Amino acid sequence: GAATTFAFVATPDGAALRHFVRVGVRSLLVGLAFLVGAAGVWPTAGDAARVGRRLVAAGFVLFGAQQLHYFGITTARVLGWGVPGYVPLMGIADLILQWTIGLGMVMCLLEEERFSAMRAARRAEHLAYHDALTGLPNRRLLRDHLELALAQARRTGGRVAVVFLDLDRFKVINDSLGHGVGDRLLDAVGDRIRHAVRAGDTLARIGGDEFTLLLPAVADPDDAGAVARKVVEAVRAPFTVDGHELFVTASAGISVAPDDGADADTLLKHADVAMYRAKEAGSDSFAFFAPEMNARAAERLALESALRRALPAGQLRLLFQPVFSVETGRPVAAEALLRWAHPERGVLAPDAFLGVAEATGLIVPIGAWVLREACACARRLRAAGAPELAVLVNLSARQLAEAGLVEEVRAVLVDEATPPHLLELEITESLAMREPLAAEAALRGLRALGVRISVDDFGTGYSSFGYLRRFPVDTLKIDRSFVRDVDTDEGGAAIAAAIIAMGQRLGLRVVAEGVEREGQLAFLRAQRCDAAQGFHLGRPVPAEALEAMLRGACAGEVAVAGD
Ligand code: C2E
Ligand code: CA
Ligand code: CA
Repeated sequence: GAATTFAFVATPDGAALRHFVRVGVRSLLVGLAFLVGAAGVWPTAGDAARVGRRLVAAGFVLFGAQQLHYFGITTARVLGWGVPGYVPLMGIADLILQWTIGLGMVMCLLEEERFSAMRAARRAEHLAYHDALTGLPNRRLLRDHLELALAQARRTGGRVAVVFLDLDRFKVINDSLGHGVGDRLLDAVGDRIRHAVRAGDTLARIGGDEFTLLLPAVADPDDAGAVARKVVEAVRAPFTVDGHELFVTASAGISVAPDDGADADTLLKHADVAMYRAKEAGSDSFAFFAPEMNARAAERLALESALRRALPAGQLRLLFQPVFSVETGRPVAAEALLRWAHPERGVLAPDAFLGVAEATGLIVPIGAWVLREACACARRLRAAGAPELAVLVNLSARQLAEAGLVEEVRAVLVDEATPPHLLELEITESLAMREPLAAEAALRGLRALGVRISVDDFGTGYSSFGYLRRFPVDTLKIDRSFVRDVDTDEGGAAIAAAIIAMGQRLGLRVVAEGVEREGQLAFLRAQRCDAAQGFHLGRPVPAEALEAMLRGACAGEVAVAGD
């Protein structure tokens, strides 16, 4: 230490020079090193609470200065200016400074531990209030912000809007491209929405593909509509995820306080209800909450819980509508059509409950049941005298997106001893075009089983004919709206004739739906349409009734061609 260094104070000048070189230069270097070190540990504005660190920094500065001071003293000695009288006291100062630095370092270590514990707690708190995938606030934080905004609005008499957003086809993407892609898409959607709104608005992710936007101060409900429109439009532009170009749309529902509810729960619920309304109206849009929606939502909820019980309770039935060869008048197929014997509302047609079945995913087990039941019934119908009778089964969008569809069909074909070419699956154009890649893969898998594919309601969907070549399709079913006027209107006849001709040119079987009059049948015969279906030829009936009819048909009672 410094105390021994200055035991040589009284030696002559040659020794002073050596002393300068040995001690002075070292003091200079040590002093500079400590000052640099002090700069390194100097607390930043954020470290105000770190006493240990400040102590170390201050100790470094003072100790560095002290060392420079020694350098000054040795220099003065070499120059022969003598040595100040307080030099012996400096040893004590050195000791104090070294203690200070040591103490500071211990405090520093303790504090570091405390701070890292605090950081961990902060991180845990962040996780509790944020969604791990997107980093956006979660439902809890949204509620906090919403309650705050409501309290403020009550004082100022202002308005608060909640926009509930739900992606329209997220499940299809998730199921067909995998959860990794799905997660990254959600992240990208969150980013895009956040950039479409103001910094003061809270965007939260509150569930799988559900986001909620809080607009804490809106002057007019229409402003919330403008924001919702902007967000829906922002989502509409394609996303690129892992090299896939993905198209999603969002549906939004808006509720505004105090008009649509004064508390957080009511507002969130009403925005959700309005979102469902937007979906029902065709998705990719937004809707404001309206009080009468509550009644509809309650009704839908009741329908949903009843439908959940329908399958186990054996309330679902199939009717079969025969399809006839136009040329021979013989029945060539039977279409399975679903009915629900609702315990209170009587027998419901599919239009009354398929929407709910789709939205809830219930269509998947129901569709599986339809497939099996239809194949089982068809076996009995064939035994009744129509050995080549095909069974037509309608598929829903959800089923086509389901990964296990092909396997399931294969199992049913085996279990019900159904020749694959006698099962024809009906899909609609819009259904297949919503997710063309997934649909194409599923359809090719089904085709590989030997099952036939039919395009239902042809002409009402996208009318993009490209897919007719791309998808493995066997049959076109002309929608009944095109069949309606063929015997009364020249324009209608021309369109139907063109569709039939096109199907023939593509080598497809063409079936006309909704034949209600003899005149329509005559037209179809003239156009050489392959088959026809409709109330004029046979209504949907239970399998037993069709069975009886088929036995009659074998005896020649149903003769459509003749007339
Ligand atoms: P779709 O596939 O176009 O089925 C034909 C619908 O037209 C049936 O209505 C049938 O009763 C009706 N129909 C048949 N002939 C005539 C006619 O001459 N005139 C008129 N006006 N209508 C006729 P339904 O049974 O109410 O089924 C409605 C829709 O529900 C079906 O349309 C189909 O898309 C869907 N659907 C039915 N069963 C199932 C099913 O098991 N699964 C799925 N995913 N959808 C089904
Ligand atoms: Ca159909
Ligand atoms: Ca149809």
